[in-house]
Amino acid sequence: MVGFCLKMSKNKKRVPMRTCIACRAVKPKEELVRLVYSPEGLVEIDTTGKRPGRGAYLCGRSECWERGAKRLGYVLTARNKKK
Ligand SMILES: [Zn+2]
Repeated sequence: MVGFCLKMSKNKKRVPMRTCIACRAVKPKEELVRLVYSPEGLVEIDTTGKRPGRGAYLCGRSECWERGAKRLGYVLTARNKKK
């Protein structure tokens, strides 16, 4: 029975997963909004998912957007500063 279940799940398409920086929920990439820290130092919403630059993801909850907005600058710039 268990072996059968494993076989079934392996047939599913692999969906790239991303983590919301505010609530840490792991969701399929398409369900999250990508934010990009541009070379100009601005945080922009990436609707295409293809923009260059450092990316971070937020889920659709308004709560996460409030928390995420504060965290985002820190998350993205802290990585730059440390190296
Ligand atoms: Zn979230």
